[in-house]
Amino acid sequence: MSILIAGAGIGGLTTALGLHAAGRTDVRVLEAVPEIRPLGVGLNILPNAVRELAELGLLDALLAVSVPTGTLGYHNRHGQLIWREERGLAAGYRWPQLSIHRGRLQSVLAEAARDRLGPGSIVTDARVEDFAPRADGRVDVRVHHPSTGRTEEVTGDALIGADGIHSRVRACLHPQEGPPPWNGLVVWRGTSTAPPFLDGRSMIIAGDDRRRAVVYPMSAPEGPSGEVLVNWAVARAAEPDAVFEDADWNRAVAPETFLHHFEDLAFDWLDVPALVRTAREAYVYPMVDRDPLPRWTHGVVTLLGDAAHAMYPMGSNGATQAIVDARVLARELALRETPAEALAAYEAERLPVLTRIQASARRRGPEVVIDLAHERAPEGFADPAEVFPGDELASISREFARLGGFDPETVNTRPTLAVPTITGGAR
Ligand SMILES: Cc1cc2nc3c(=O)[nH]c(=O)nc-3n(C[C@H](O)[C@H](O)[C@H](O)COP(=O)(O)OP(=O)(O)OC[C@H]3O[C@@H](n4cnc5c(N)ncnc54)[C@H](O)[C@@H]3O)c2cc1C
Repeated sequence: MSILIAGAGIGGLTTALGLHAAGRTDVRVLEAVPEIRPLGVGLNILPNAVRELAELGLLDALLAVSVPTGTLGYHNRHGQLIWREERGLAAGYRWPQLSIHRGRLQSVLAEAARDRLGPGSIVTDARVEDFAPRADGRVDVRVHHPSTGRTEEVTGDALIGADGIHSRVRACLHPQEGPPPWNGLVVWRGTSTAPPFLDGRSMIIAGDDRRRAVVYPMSAPEGPSGEVLVNWAVARAAEPDAVFEDADWNRAVAPETFLHHFEDLAFDWLDVPALVRTAREAYVYPMVDRDPLPRWTHGVVTLLGDAAHAMYPMGSNGATQAIVDARVLARELALRETPAEALAAYEAERLPVLTRIQASARRRGPEVVIDLAHERAPEGFADPAEVFPGDELASISREFARLGGFDPETVNTRPTLAVPTITGGAR
């Protein structure tokens, strides 16, 4: 069975690795860019997805280039702590939560895929443009090679659209859909090197109903200075006349153009504007997502990761859910009789969960506690219990994890998604 994957991002590469682990080795990843470069800034992988990467034998490689997140704290705009919770191992999961540079994660995955499936398994400079089902049940995929201008047709038993938020595969299935909808917020993202803050393993989210900052370290102290690589993202409503022609992950921006909106988020335990001022790189991105779809699978073609369910970055679910999608899909492709059955079973398991998580992200997920704190006590508080009686804060957090099936009990006790490898060679 030959599987074609559009996109060598986080979901596409994990799918390739998952298929290999499940004994399916006729896999080709078609990637539009001429070369895989470590692009992006930071992201978090929750323990349910770290479990999958660990079962693929990648945990040590990832631990070497990430920080196992210890706590997550929500703060008001005065820097006062609203709620802090333990994360990863400290929260009782058997696997850590990892804060990592997206480029480093993608490099670990790409290197493992080339090692295990062979150097030809990832074809760069190969943009999937269109596809057509064949009478024999397979699929013809039209691939364009931008550097030579050549276009060719390749045939597979299935096509997985893991080609991100601007998915071409999705556009072919839903030609009327148009660009991803924008909620009017702008996010500036970047990295800086800085001394460690708090315990060196903390992620923080601070702000009010209009502005927000998310900050976490992505490396252990490096070099003689002992500084760490820090990810930051700051968000606020756009100016009324702002226009984004497209949502481009790589649109670089100068910190001076937005720093003034966040100057007051300087606390005695963390100076957000200082991080922005000393950025190594900064990018601007509109906060866009995708509407949930009623189906992802059409015969032997399906969608995965952002192509299927791009969502706002509330609750660290983008890369996490793409990784889990990949493992479920690989398992189904290994176990079912036909690719069409496998793709249908994958959708039946994943689509309802993801539809719930997408909707929750639109309601700001667990970050809603920051809005509530601002609404109830805009000038701050002496004790968060004055503002949040009983266990309201704990139950918001618990509810979010339960909704997505990533609470500690589910993650620790659910059966593995791994498939016993079939001996006797490639299938
Ligand atoms: C350059 C870049 C930077 C990013 N930076 C961040 C970040 O800093 N923080 C964050 O949280 N998320 C970031 N993301 C998004 C994040 O990777 C995803 O939200 C998440 O990991 C889900 O991954 P995915 O595999 O579904 O999509 P992605 O990781 O976006 O991967 C999609 C891949 O498909 C390729 N592709 C697109 N169209 C085609 C086509 N027609 N044919 C073949 N290949 C195609 C893209 O080049 C890309 O490699 C970034 C994505 C990209 C592409």
